[in-house]
Amino acid sequence: MHKRLAIIGSTGSIGTQALGIVARYPDLFTVSVLTAGSNAELLMAQARLCRPAKVVIGNEAFYQVVKDGLSGLGIEVMAGQKAVEDVASSDGIDTVVAAMVGFAGLRPTTAAVMAGREVALANKETLVVAGEMITRAAAMTGTRLLPVDSEHSAIMQCLNGEPGSSVERIILTASGGPFRDTPAERLAKVTPLEALRHPNWTMGSKITIDSATLMNKGLEVIEAHWLFGTPADKIDVLIHPQSIIHSMVQFTDGSVKAQLGVPDMRLPIIYALTYPERVVTDLPRPDLADLGALTFGEPDTLRFRCLALARMALKAGGNMPCALNAANEAAVAAFLREKIGFNDIAGTVEHVLGKTEFNGEALLDVYAVTDQRSREIANEYINKVQKK
Ligand code: NDP
Repeated sequence: MHKRLAIIGSTGSIGTQALGIVARYPDLFTVSVLTAGSNAELLMAQARLCRPAKVVIGNEAFYQVVKDGLSGLGIEVMAGQKAVEDVASSDGIDTVVAAMVGFAGLRPTTAAVMAGREVALANKETLVVAGEMITRAAAMTGTRLLPVDSEHSAIMQCLNGEPGSSVERIILTASGGPFRDTPAERLAKVTPLEALRHPNWTMGSKITIDSATLMNKGLEVIEAHWLFGTPADKIDVLIHPQSIIHSMVQFTDGSVKAQLGVPDMRLPIIYALTYPERVVTDLPRPDLADLGALTFGEPDTLRFRCLALARMALKAGGNMPCALNAANEAAVAAFLREKIGFNDIAGTVEHVLGKTEFNGEALLDVYAVTDQRSREIANEYINKVQKK
């Protein structure tokens, strides 16, 4: 089952872990394409090691640096967003690891799906923004969408061999993030540094803030809806601070299946890349006796309004989840730059949803316009909040 991979977003948290897996299983994988945003140094180091046929740096300002740095190695070097999109569908690739963050990952992932490449999907924003378009295109081209997100990997594993009609509910687990027990009045004052300290997972900064606001779980509800065709009211969220149960499925006979593992993203990445096989790994195993107890609770959607807003956007449908995502990306960036407070993230998203004109057409152009307009509305709001 040797696979030729394109790793789109190779310099990020998921991208570097995917490359670690390639190095561990050289018989199973070859890297054909690597792409990054601005981290030219790391991209060049990765390319020198893996010798892909093609390398793309998204930020054109670094083109010459990468071109000079890789000269004489027989690697084709390109730059710009269009080049990232083009290589995601190029020949000589079996699987695209969609590991870019945010809306920027939509076009390359769409290109991969349209070309019928298997997609190991980490970029959840693709399904949040364009779930209808992507799943329709995947059905048309026969593309396999394999989730990398640990929750969705868990659900896929629970669903293996089960008839769709026997599924009663999906139960997504959530650690609750660093502010699970933080009182509402303190949340307004928490700093980016505190929010970036996730108790169980080490991830890129955007998803770490999303985990702290519970927007990540909201995005995952939308992702699960599109991946598994499950109605939103049959997708529950359960707080599980230990992050050992990665998610569960409840069946019509009352049985519940869960997938367990230590919180380590290498496990769902390997599963997506080797599906339906399982390989031997030396990853840590959960020690349940040592853990002693696994605990659960309801999410607090009053303190963490982003989860409720994501559900609202999913229910509204059309371009609303796209607006939600754009507003969230703008607000998270502003929070990380200390322009707005933690609670203003939900405030920004709510404001943008209220101002968004509904459009039900599942088209890339509609998403692009909605994304741009939503960021403008979000940034106007952010500037106003900042002045107060
Ligand atoms: P990171 O921020 O660590 O990495 C993002 C990657 O995308 C980097 O390689 C970055 O390049 C690249 N990138 C960003 N913008 C652009 C652009 N405009 N053009 C080209 N490349 C770009 O993110 P994560 O790895 O944490 O997350 C990636 C995706 O996976 C997200 O959608 C996240 O929600 C999802 N995910 C992540 C998990 C995790 O554990 N990290 C768990 C589950 C899901 P550069 O750094 O060179 O600028």
